[in-house]
Amino acid sequence: MIEIKNLHKSYKMGSNSLHVLKGINFSVEDGELVAIMGSSGSGKSTLLNILGMLDEADEGEYLLDGIPIKNLNETKAANYRNKFLGFIFQSFNLINYKTALENVALPLYYQKMPRKQRQEKALKYLEQVGLKEWSHHLPSELSGGQKQRVAVARAMVAEPKVLLADELTGALDSKTSYEVMDLIQKINDQGNTILVVTHEPDIARMCKRIVHLKDGVIVKDEKVKQVKALANV
Ligand code: ATP
Ligand code: MG
Repeated sequence: MIEIKNLHKSYKMGSNSLHVLKGINFSVEDGELVAIMGSSGSGKSTLLNILGMLDEADEGEYLLDGIPIKNLNETKAANYRNKFLGFIFQSFNLINYKTALENVALPLYYQKMPRKQRQEKALKYLEQVGLKEWSHHLPSELSGGQKQRVAVARAMVAEPKVLLADELTGALDSKTSYEVMDLIQKINDQGNTILVVTHEPDIARMCKRIVHLKDGVIVKDEKVKQVKALANV
């Protein structure tokens, strides 16, 4: 599904540059649940943003479902992003004047799906994350865990092949984090490929594989025995 070879990324800092990714190689098969771990500043978000086509590497190869991701124009990049990828962020990134249902339906609006179909599908996904009864509430009326569930439903609604989550439990207490991770495990059990960036070992252990980033390279890539999230609640 994902294949990257010798990926490099630097940020320009005035006359200096900061070499953040220094030759990253890895691949992710369909249906994997992978944690990308590393301390703050190790380049996790930089890597995820490149995988999510929100940023470009300076060097190296990236194949997404066999398609080389390089020098794409914005229209093509947006098409691939919509077709292949769903995003979940630490800060939920919901639109605060739209209801839960409208937030979830938004990716379908960009796909130009008719309104009625959009609403039906969004409701189905809200139901999947246990929030059907909350569909007409605004984000400000939801708890952190509920907001993240809405964000998960929004990431799923266009049925992407890969979900990319950056510190999705970073703003949540541990019990709520485990509930959100339970949802992630269930979605993965249905066959979705998921990459979870985290600096929390507890969260990483709920994945099936942990890739450790340090000083811009992968220092360890291990299959782990997955801990069921609900065992912690
Ligand atoms: P955290 O766990 O704190 O989120 P991270 O592992 O996600 O950290 P990155 O956000 O990828 O780390 O940042 C890696 C390094 O690159 C850091 O030193 C950061 O300051 C720097 N950096 C990130 N984005 C930019 C940018 N747009 N311009 C300049 N430097 C950047
Ligand atoms: Mg980060």
